[in-house]
Amino acid sequence: MWVFLCPIITVDTTIKYPVMEMFDTLQGEGFHAGKAAFFIRLAGCDVGCSWCDVKESWEAEKHPILALDIIEEAITNSKANIVVVTGGEPTLHPLEALVDVIHKCGKQAHIETAGTNDTLAKFDWITFSPKKFKQPVDAFLSKAHELKVVAFNKHDIIWATEWQQKLHDTCKLYIQCEWSKREQIAPILISFVQDNPEWTLSVQTHKYLNIP
Ligand code: SF4
Repeated sequence: MWVFLCPIITVDTTIKYPVMEMFDTLQGEGFHAGKAAFFIRLAGCDVGCSWCDVKESWEAEKHPILALDIIEEAITNSKANIVVVTGGEPTLHPLEALVDVIHKCGKQAHIETAGTNDTLAKFDWITFSPKKFKQPVDAFLSKAHELKVVAFNKHDIIWATEWQQKLHDTCKLYIQCEWSKREQIAPILISFVQDNPEWTLSVQTHKYLNIP
């Protein structure tokens, strides 16, 4: 079924995506932390971080393939004004139609990505979270709204500042403890942010509050 949104935008709602889960929660991290958000976790990942906390998302074929009209219904039923597309690595999939549907529902489209594949989809907020396990494409250097570096060890702070040099000036800078290392790395990151106030410590509030 084709839905006409305006004279130049059409959405093929028969497009399908592998979806691990969709849920209402609060955005737990970064600039929009604390805001109501509807999360769509697409399955499939081409990165493979050793410390990944959603490894069950890696294999797309293990998850239901949902048509866009089913996803649209779920988005419509959520009261949240923000829809966060995450993964896995969401840029493995063609995201233009999904973003058009989010906009059609009158909501903001956010993405959390390691940036391993470019996307032409018009996201309203891009959280760029590069990983050492796979080099991102350069496209995200100019369009990221926030950089989020997950620090597993001290060296990751140097790596974070290398990304800072590459990104545009208005990109917000967040550094976050890798969850399993938080007790060791948190004091180091706190000192780093105190010495480098252009950075902000991103805290995974959803994990402390035990919400999805
Ligand atoms: Fe896990 Fe994300 Fe890394 Fe993929 S990119 S392995 S989903 S942390």
